[in-house]
Amino acid sequence: MDTQAFKRSLHQSDRYNRRGFGSPTKRAQALEKAYQSSLITSIRDNGYGLEHGRLKVRLAEAFGFCWGVERAVAMAYETRRHYPNENIWITNEIIHNPSVNDHLRQMNVRFISAEQGVKDFSDVGIGDVVILPAFGATVQEMQLLHERGCHIIDTTCPWVSKVWHTVEKHKKHTFTSIIHGKYKHEETLATSSFAGTYLVVLDLAEAEYVADYILGKGDRKDFLERFAKASSPGFDPDTDLQRIGVANQTTMLKSETEEIGRLFELTMLNKYGPMELVNHFLAFNTICDATEERQGAMFSLVDEPLDMLVVIGGFNSSNTTHLQEIAISRGLRSFHIDTPERIGEEDNSITHMPLGQDIVKEKYFLPEGKVCVGITSGASTPDRVVEHVIQKLIKISEL
Ligand code: SF4
Repeated sequence: MDTQAFKRSLHQSDRYNRRGFGSPTKRAQALEKAYQSSLITSIRDNGYGLEHGRLKVRLAEAFGFCWGVERAVAMAYETRRHYPNENIWITNEIIHNPSVNDHLRQMNVRFISAEQGVKDFSDVGIGDVVILPAFGATVQEMQLLHERGCHIIDTTCPWVSKVWHTVEKHKKHTFTSIIHGKYKHEETLATSSFAGTYLVVLDLAEAEYVADYILGKGDRKDFLERFAKASSPGFDPDTDLQRIGVANQTTMLKSETEEIGRLFELTMLNKYGPMELVNHFLAFNTICDATEERQGAMFSLVDEPLDMLVVIGGFNSSNTTHLQEIAISRGLRSFHIDTPERIGEEDNSITHMPLGQDIVKEKYFLPEGKVCVGITSGASTPDRVVEHVIQKLIKISEL
């Protein structure tokens, strides 16, 4: 499919809106009322620290709601106000935050259901309003909704759209897109749908496996099995890895994306030589500013003398998980929670998700005596949620 031509025709449609319905000022005011926190503002003003009795809290200097998420949430609220009586759907969670998604449900915004990754659009009627979330939607979904006569409110973050342009550029110049991401993640599914030939690599280890294959050190059968779900239909590693460009899911670990980019550049340099590199490798720059800032702030936070870290964000949030990885890489005791309710004040407990494992409950997690807790949150977490977590820690420390 010519995805660029489709997007052009979609953007010209009077049933398509990617600007929302309110002024940026009103938008900021509405969000401030709903999600901002005076406690967090005062901690920020106090050099990102708070001391209360035996408890010391250190906040990362960049955390929480990013510009793209704020915009998407505000546009969703504006949509409800603009269409007070229409059926409103959203193709997925607006962002990976349970409280924000619940708030939308209370406003009678319905979520399109999915069974084993396959979405069911059968209840979406002609003329219904459909919101596309911050991490976008696949081109096939957009096409289906457009053909059904729906009003599409597109809150896709411009940083995500930038990645789509990158893979479309690869396609135009017959380069294979190597996407650093999680092949099942909604953003990567959307990005893949705009790509031509593509391969999704999860991490540096997978990228090294692919690089070895390019240099003639792999096994074709094993390769095809390994990437069966993470490559475009009919992907052939012998012919489709001769010209490659790298792109990424915007929320991956920045340092890893950069390493993967360097690895493939070097691999193609070794294979084809410096004069031919330009015909075999396309450089990229699609790391989102907010992700970069939050990861940078986390690297500074873990250098402080902390006793533990609490990382707040949806369990399915990629950017939150990467923040926790940074804590783990430094050997710090860390807890990933999605809502303040995961902390039990009565029994000093925390119900959290250790990296790559199931949720567990831990009692007496806040130790006796003086304790310094570092806190950060993913791009989908409102300040008010962080405030509630701090309040709970304060209560436990007073027991
Ligand atoms: S994390 Fe980056 S790409 Fe994702 S919504 Fe926020 S600004 Fe956009």
